[in-house]
Amino acid sequence: MELPRSGPYVVVGAGVHGLSSAYHLALELEQRGAGSGADVIVLEKSRIGAGASGIACGVVRNFYFSPGIAEVIRASVELFETDPEGFGYHPVGYIAAVPELQAEECVAIQRRQAEIGYRSDVLLGERRCQEYMDAIFPDWDGRGIEAVLHEHQGGWAVTRQTVENLARLARERGVRIYEGVEVTGFDLHEGVVQAVETSAGSVRTDLVVAGPGPWGGHLWRMLDLPPEVRVRNNGDFETKPIVTYWKLQEGDYWLDDVELTDAHGNEPPVIHLDHVEPLVSDRDGRELYSGHWGIYYKTGRRGFGVQGGGVPIPLGTDVELEPYGPENPEHVVGDEFSDVFTSGLARAHERFRGKGREWHVDPHGGIGAFTPDNYPIVDLVRPNAYLIMDSNHGFKMIGMGKLVANDILGGGEPRLEPFRLSRYEAGVTHAASRSPYPWN
Ligand SMILES: Cc1cc2nc3c(=O)[nH]c(=O)nc-3n(C[C@H](O)[C@H](O)[C@H](O)COP(=O)(O)OP(=O)(O)OC[C@H]3O[C@@H](n4cnc5c(N)ncnc54)[C@H](O)[C@@H]3O)c2cc1C
Repeated sequence: MELPRSGPYVVVGAGVHGLSSAYHLALELEQRGAGSGADVIVLEKSRIGAGASGIACGVVRNFYFSPGIAEVIRASVELFETDPEGFGYHPVGYIAAVPELQAEECVAIQRRQAEIGYRSDVLLGERRCQEYMDAIFPDWDGRGIEAVLHEHQGGWAVTRQTVENLARLARERGVRIYEGVEVTGFDLHEGVVQAVETSAGSVRTDLVVAGPGPWGGHLWRMLDLPPEVRVRNNGDFETKPIVTYWKLQEGDYWLDDVELTDAHGNEPPVIHLDHVEPLVSDRDGRELYSGHWGIYYKTGRRGFGVQGGGVPIPLGTDVELEPYGPENPEHVVGDEFSDVFTSGLARAHERFRGKGREWHVDPHGGIGAFTPDNYPIVDLVRPNAYLIMDSNHGFKMIGMGKLVANDILGGGEPRLEPFRLSRYEAGVTHAASRSPYPWN
């Protein structure tokens, strides 16, 4: 397929955000009688799902402290629910089990979920939480757990299948996806993109929509935007880098004789466990964490064992992204993380205790690019360059593209207002939660 020399809409990146935007742009153009999917091309430097979307653990949850996110997730879960099989979606639900420190946040999150019709329950107090969790996992050890938020929607999805399904939907609408075509720069005239420069020649366009994932900082530089933003904080301003990188720690683990099933032998909900009590190694009793720690886990991607992750590691502003993901030893977790993860499992479940040295291990991980307040930037950053920098929130946000298409073709989308770039200068950034993660 030869790359056209011009096209009304050029989408950069074939991850969830690029593909969802391309698909929904195609739908919206058709519905408005303003064009069709043939007006949309996607440029992907590698292959579909080569970035964060293809390697993510795939957890789909609405457990977010910042209110703006709840609507985006609801739109996304609705899309997953239209075709669970196609998206590889497991609607098993999601449970956050947290200490007293985060109990109030759980209550606030559940209240907001109830307001928008997202089905969930919250339990408070160690005894009630223990009783509730006992019914799901008879071997649950809930010491120190003071709040449980059970989201009855969400769960997890097989990430590569989700991305492939989005690509299929987009292609069915006439979108053309060019793999192996790298965007190398933009021909800018007074800040307006005239053409997209690529490894296969230049493409004139009216609008660029980029979902670059971890490469957000690279696209930002190509658009000749300043590397730092001013963030207003109580009347003062501080300068922050537009992107800071974190190493996401994840892996697949399994035992020969024990499975992560619920009380009825079925696949359980995804579990998110935060603790303030020390975590000791299930291998040798060493203290691994003295303070706040957390793990999240679900059925393994092979259909058995456990897949999950933990608190990421900050890397600063300068990292090597290539090659991206599991082929890069720098992106993959080491044995230390395996000890933390399996010890966390042993802390929560009697069945895993004393098995620290018996786990089979398939470590993975990757790098995420985070914005100054760790929440997405979804905005026109140039008059005709629309950027979705998702701050690593978003495999689950497959519905974001629908809001993006409304925003672009419908002249605005209120649900995206919390994610505008101007929030930093205006000092209306997203509040930080008390969880040990940068993305809650
Ligand atoms: C290890 C890990 C685990 C995660 N787990 C979860 C999870 O459980 N649940 C969840 O919701 N989220 C999770 N995330 C976050 C989630 O994966 C990302 O937020 C999301 O996938 C980002 O999607 P994207 O489309 O913006 O980026 P990507 O999927 O990274 O897609 C960007 C694409 O752009 C392409 N590209 C980049 N630069 C160029 C260029 N110059 N020219 C052409 N193409 C280019 C890349 O090759 C890539 O394919 C995880 C992330 C990581 C790293």
